[in-house]
Amino acid sequence: MDLGSYADLAIELVNTQQRDADTLGDLDGLREVLAPHPHMVGRLAHRDLDAMRGLRAQLREIFVAADAGDEEGAIDRLNTLLIQHPVHPQVSGHDGLGWHLHVNEGGSIPDRFAARAAMGLAVKISDQGLDRLGVCRADGCGRVFFDATADRARRHCPRHHADRPNVAAHRSPRNGVTAEVPPD
Ligand SMILES: [Zn+2]
Repeated sequence: MDLGSYADLAIELVNTQQRDADTLGDLDGLREVLAPHPHMVGRLAHRDLDAMRGLRAQLREIFVAADAGDEEGAIDRLNTLLIQHPVHPQVSGHDGLGWHLHVNEGGSIPDRFAARAAMGLAVKISDQGLDRLGVCRADGCGRVFFDATADRARRHCPRHHADRPNVAAHRSPRNGVTAEVPPD
């Protein structure tokens, strides 16, 4: 398991809230967020929803601080999360997969999610830099993203990046491709 890939959990959770929408409003919304993750399925109570919403706010603050160039602020917040949700590694060898790493198989679902998301961000930032974290500037969006481009200058989430004039020009109907811009 590449621990850095757990950073996707952080992005996924933060993006359940945009400036004008929130899909983490109830337990059904939370079940939907967790459904693709087989290690995080189980009974959920309202306190889990509260915990996940709290975690979401903490994770967003990391992206907002990084996006604003406040490196110390972003790292302080991330380190706080790492202390609150320590990673417990376990080596496992089930289903003929050979020995491989699992983390935080025990504990509440929000704890497991938080430990993975914080660890994933920590690995990703250490490997690739804090300046890759961004917050989309498109109206009504506010989604966070990880900028994997070489110049690290992206200001819009992948969904709105296609809306940029220079990109839209390459995707005009004239060229046979229609730019898809979501209605938010
Ligand atoms: Zn966006």
